[in-house]
Amino acid sequence: MNLLKQCEYCGDEFEAIRDSAKYCSDSHRSLANRQRRRNEEIEYERECQQEEYDEMCRISDEEQLKREEQAIAQQAEQKLIKEAEHKIREEQRRIDEQQRRIKQDEKREKESKIILQKAEINLKLKVLGGVALFGIIGNFLNSNDNPKQ
Ligand SMILES: [Zn+2]
Repeated sequence: MNLLKQCEYCGDEFEAIRDSAKYCSDSHRSLANRQRRRNEEIEYERECQQEEYDEMCRISDEEQLKREEQAIAQQAEQKLIKEAEHKIREEQRRIDEQQRRIKQDEKREKESKIILQKAEINLKLKVLGGVALFGIIGNFLNSNDNPKQ
């Protein structure tokens, strides 16, 4: 007795001679095979494309990571440069301040020398004045001792 089955290609019912029959005709079996191969090819292509895509993603991920690392390294470098620049500026400021102080000290020293010189002159003048006064007094006393002269 023949079995009633459904063709896996066209879906029509057919009377199968063997239990293992899947298609209503030889042509539908070969068409089904062709379609399966075609589907397998499409599936293979899709897998290849997926692999290519994954590889591209992996590369771009690596590239991205490399860029991020470079950016971090660059930032660290710039930070170091800024710190160094800051230190140099501070050092320059310190040197400027020192030079300013040295100039001030020199000026003060000159001024105190002038003051000292002025004081010496005043003292000399006073001494000279005193000597002169003594001379006058001496002369006066001498003239009083010898009124007849
Ligand atoms: Zn069929």
